[in-house]
Amino acid sequence: MIRYYSTNRRLDGVAGLKPFKGQVSFRDALIQGQAPDEGLFMPEPIPALSIDDILALRDAPYAEAALLVAQAFLKDALPRDVLKTIVEDSYNYDVPLERVCERMYVMRLDRGPTASFKDFAARMMARLMSRLRDRGKRLNVLVATSGDTGSAVGEAFKGVEGISVWILYPKNEVSGMQKKQLDTIGDNVLALSVDGKFDDCQNLVKQAFSDPGLSQFNLTSANSINFGRIMPQSVYYIYAYAQLASKGDEIVFSVPSGNFGNALGCEYARRMGLPVRMLVMPTNENDEFPNYLRTGVYEKVSPSRACLSNAMNVGHPSNLARFFDLYGGTVDRTGVVHVYPDLNEMRRRIFSVSISDQETKKTIRRVYEKYNILLEPHGAVGWKGLELYLEACCGPIAEPCVCLETAHPAKFPDEIIELLDVTPEVPRSMKDLDKRTGAPVELPADYGRLRSFLLGTLKGKD
Ligand SMILES: *Cc1c(COP(=O)(O)O)cnc(C)c1O
Repeated sequence: MIRYYSTNRRLDGVAGLKPFKGQVSFRDALIQGQAPDEGLFMPEPIPALSIDDILALRDAPYAEAALLVAQAFLKDALPRDVLKTIVEDSYNYDVPLERVCERMYVMRLDRGPTASFKDFAARMMARLMSRLRDRGKRLNVLVATSGDTGSAVGEAFKGVEGISVWILYPKNEVSGMQKKQLDTIGDNVLALSVDGKFDDCQNLVKQAFSDPGLSQFNLTSANSINFGRIMPQSVYYIYAYAQLASKGDEIVFSVPSGNFGNALGCEYARRMGLPVRMLVMPTNENDEFPNYLRTGVYEKVSPSRACLSNAMNVGHPSNLARFFDLYGGTVDRTGVVHVYPDLNEMRRRIFSVSISDQETKKTIRRVYEKYNILLEPHGAVGWKGLELYLEACCGPIAEPCVCLETAHPAKFPDEIIELLDVTPEVPRSMKDLDKRTGAPVELPADYGRLRSFLLGTLKGKD
């Protein structure tokens, strides 16, 4: 049986913290989101996949790779036919692997309903929550978002049985397109436009979670630290390997990184048995992690730096706690390192560099002119990081190298037009936005007002 423990379990004697020493089931980790000591849940043991099962996925639909991983983690929690329905329902869109040159590829994770890789995790998590919630009880998901996560989560839960979703976003901090994406989801998903900042939204959600007056409504979060979002993010690495590699090959992945949840999926895939030669984790100018690998000293970037690849503007990645734990260390939520991990081991397996905005733009231009491949800022950070890794290690290698493209270029029309003078083709999911209607509920950044609104609308039963 796989059980889930807290990354904070060893933090005895730290003021204000009571380490959670227990272990919980996948279901509890999924519904609770984080451990009672505010640590992150970690699976133990990590299940193993056989290389033959992985290679057998060649030419299979993506959902089959997802089923292999889901079964490895969840065979005690849900029967195979239920898992099969969940993955087929979650992954009804393409996952293109585009060859750039030699054995170098871009894997496009931007074909889901909100055109970002977050769709992969959110869609599977939503369906798992629906199946694993207590019978007869309605789950109410509360999320604070600065933009992309909220729409991915909202779309993922749309129409999912037994769950309602409330998305709080800062009124003046989302783009026009993001606002449209959030306001018009409809059905069981409601957007709340808060007259405040992203931090205000987060605080409102936190207050709601700790409010005993709301406890009968089964509130839960769907944020990026939920292990239910990490597990699905290990699937595309396995899928890519099966499509591109032959028996005996190793593979290199480059993952443009912010909160490190995506890269963590790769780290888990490797620990499940995928032959990953190197995990490249380029960041934007928020360079706390590449600096740590270089110097051995961790210092978060605070406040975080605003870069072009805006979904990666993170000064202390929330999933760093999991990476440190996997390499024998402990770092807490605030960025204090209690035990340093095995730095040499980390350096052997992970390569990280910081890519400036200027370099990001140059890369978008160069890759387009040289290879006719269109990248947006996040993917460009990934590509440049991959190139720098190959330069640092060895030059071109004979084994497959895959850079993840985490958003659709059409989400960044101004930058692309300015740099390349081409207008990115808009995917159907985004075209359909024009036809959608809907309005948010407007709220001040005031907990009393949120509370009375929730009391009037939440339902605790199905
Ligand atoms: C969230 C996001 C990232 C960063 O992913 P992490 O898992 O937080 O490292 C990268 N690119 C895009 C487009 C994103 O939305």
